[in-house]
This record gives sequence, C-alpha cells and structure tokens, in this order.
Amino acid sequence: MASRVIYLVVLLAWIALLWVGLDFAAKPKQAPSAIPTTQLDWVTFFAADILPSLPVTDEFVTPLRPPDGDGAVVTLPFLEEGHLGEDWSTAQGDAALGEPVYSVADGWVSAAQDFENAWGKVIFICYRLPEGRWPPFIEVMYAQLQSMDVASGTFVKRGQKIGEVGNAGGTYAVANGGMGAHLHWEVRQTVGKGLGPGFDTKRDGWLEPSAFLAAHRGERSKQPLKVKVLGNAERRGWGTD
Ligand SMILES: [Zn+2]
Repeated sequence: MASRVIYLVVLLAWIALLWVGLDFAAKPKQAPSAIPTTQLDWVTFFAADILPSLPVTDEFVTPLRPPDGDGAVVTLPFLEEGHLGEDWSTAQGDAALGEPVYSVADGWVSAAQDFENAWGKVIFICYRLPEGRWPPFIEVMYAQLQSMDVASGTFVKRGQKIGEVGNAGGTYAVANGGMGAHLHWEVRQTVGKGLGPGFDTKRDGWLEPSAFLAAHRGERSKQPLKVKVLGNAERRGWGTD
C-alpha cells in the first residue's frame, strides 16, 4: 500500500514538473521593457570588470559649451515636475539642433544606441571618481540626440564631442507640436539603470546634474558655472520635455 502511495506521489510530481517545464518553455522571452536587453548586456557583462579600471576624474565640464556652459541655458531644472534630469539648450525652438554635445569627463561608453520614440539616440557614459569622493562611479545619460559619434564599449575623453543635440527623431520638433530641440541629460549615482522613467515622484539614485558639475570641476570649482537657469516665465519657446 505504502509503495503504491509513493509511486503515485512520484508520478504526480513528475507530471507537475513536466507541466511547469512545458509552460515555461512555451512562454516567449519576456517582451522588451523600457530597458533594452543590449543596454543591460553591456552593463551586466562588462561594467563590473571595467569600472574599477576607468581613469579617475574629478574634473568635469559642461555637456554643452564646455567647460563652463557659457551660452547654454537650463530650460527645465532637476525635479521640476518630477524631472530626473536637466534639459539644456543653446537656442529657442529647434535652433539648437546639431549643437555639439561633449563628454563631461574621461569615461567609458556603456551604451550608445537609438531607442527611437521619445528617447531617440541615447548615450550612457560611466565615470569614476577619486577614492573618497562620493559616489565612486556615476553614469551619465545623454538623451534625444540627433547623432552619435561614439560606440558602446569605447573610452572617451573629457570635452570630446560625442554627438549632437536633437529632438528625438522629430518627437520634440516644433513642427510636430513639440517644444523644440534640447539635451535631456541625467546623472545617476549607480550604473545600469537603463533609460529610466525620465520623470518620477521619487529621485532615488538620481543626482542634480548642474549641482554635481559645480562640485566636481577641479580647479574650476571656485568659479560658478555660466549656464543660465531659466525661470518658469522665461521658458516659453525653449525646448523641454
Ligand atoms: Zn528633460
């Protein structure tokens, strides 16, 4: 009797395992979410090995009009309406299209690809700060670009041109009812967040880009940044998202 029960239990267990296995196999790989697998691939498989060997830098420059952002404006500040980055531009409407975008320091490109839609071409670059500075690494996202000059997995220098300001393939073009060309950029205190939500009620893990720059400018830290922050009333006609 007991052996028959054991036999039955084993049989049922096998059926259950087979059912779970078939069900799992039948399911397609999880559909791509907002974070494409290529971005995760780079970060997961290479970042952990590469980050500790990155050049150390504590001398950052502005992504537009380096080194001080003279002639650049912040069209939408950090945390305004839940903004997890800053929007920068150099001219109203779409006139900033093609404005060169520069790497803010020596770093390593963890991803550079066209995500299309509202993100367009996006470059992620990892930077390593000196021992004792916090955070030890940051990842900067440069989004909605018109063009990209760097490839995933390559090293870049401070002030190197990496691409051009865009409107995410026309998403933000004035002709399409958008606010105009601008650079949406974010500074993350951890590597591998992927695209992220852009706007959120939580700022966990996101740093204020211009405040970060101001605190990590080497000798230039004694002088204020020259980028102008537009007030609410001044933003009309300037590219934001
Ligand atoms: Zn933005």
